[in-house]
Amino acid sequence: MLDGCGVDKNRSFVLAERASALMRDHGPSATPRAYAVWFTYASGTTPSLNKAILPLTTDGRTLSDKDLMTLYETHIAPKTDLAAGAERTSISMLSQIEDIIAVVTQSLGSTAQYGEALRAIANALDGSEPTPAHIHEIVAALVGTTRDVIADYQSLETRMRESHREIETLREALETTRLESLTDPLTGLFNRKHFEDSLTRMVADSTASGEAASLIVIDVDAFKRFNDDYGHLTGDQVLRLVAKVMREHIADKGILARFGGEEFGILLPGIGRKAAFALAETIRTSVMGRDLVKRSTGESLGKITISLGIARLRPDDTPRSLLERADQCMFKAKRDGRNRTVDDAPDGATLSDVA
Ligand code: GH3
Ligand code: MG
Ligand code: MG
Repeated sequence: MLDGCGVDKNRSFVLAERASALMRDHGPSATPRAYAVWFTYASGTTPSLNKAILPLTTDGRTLSDKDLMTLYETHIAPKTDLAAGAERTSISMLSQIEDIIAVVTQSLGSTAQYGEALRAIANALDGSEPTPAHIHEIVAALVGTTRDVIADYQSLETRMRESHREIETLREALETTRLESLTDPLTGLFNRKHFEDSLTRMVADSTASGEAASLIVIDVDAFKRFNDDYGHLTGDQVLRLVAKVMREHIADKGILARFGGEEFGILLPGIGRKAAFALAETIRTSVMGRDLVKRSTGESLGKITISLGIARLRPDDTPRSLLERADQCMFKAKRDGRNRTVDDAPDGATLSDVA
């Protein structure tokens, strides 16, 4: 499931299929521009586009040609992807730093000049008995040079304050970009990349410390049919609901991710089999207990269910073996009839034997 480029290629076909389905359901036509909009929507790489589409498609509305043009020109043509955003931010940051270096260099120059002026005065005074007129001249020169230096320092201070503010804004922009690069735009959970990194870290840390760790894999049941019956946008709301239920029950006990399509993962460092099983069952029964209602029309959409697989970390596990075991358990849950949790306890063992 997490294999490198093969899956990305598969994913592109999945996205292409979704884009076609969305185009059919929500229009306006099958032009390359409409495909670009719906493909981008399905990929979730431009959250502002997804946000803009939702109100245009409520109450079963379809997009007009004008809607499509606006969406394309606002969200796709400027191509504000993360890499471009990060590049813009770092270029601005570099130009701020260059400005600061220029101002500091100028200020160092004026300090050196000031030193020169003081040295010249000291030389002029050396050994001689200054006349009142000479002293007056020296004081006037000192006052003038000091005034210039103060003015330079004040402009340096103002410029430094401005730069500090601008760098702070840029730092926040970089942090936002960093967080966006870890987040799934549809659900706000972590994305697959962050899930993989966190899985690797959890396996290394827990193996080193000998502490328990578990992984839950979740897949929505019969989701294709749900999409076919109610449309992808309503399907997207279901994915958001599953994410919300996961958040409610796991809070900060684990790391929550959507790692593709209608599949989710929960990393539970420090949590053994028994507690992981209890959490999985709480999520499953909570999802099953929600009556789904289409917001725009009040239409009842029935209920959805999920199947869950749990693997508990073993001493010889790698990230891949742990994930594969959790996946196998999830597939067994599907085979056994869906809407259930299966864990990787050895056959015949009870939960209390192996918790
Ligand atoms: P199973 O119970 O065996 O898991 O059946 P299923 O229909 O859920 O499984 P299948 O893998 O055949 O279909 C998954 C569907 O999930 C296909 C695709 O339309 C849908 N899907 C994948 N990603 C998204 C998404 O981001 N949004 C929506 N709405 N649907 C998605
Ligand atoms: Mg699936
Ligand atoms: Mg499914």
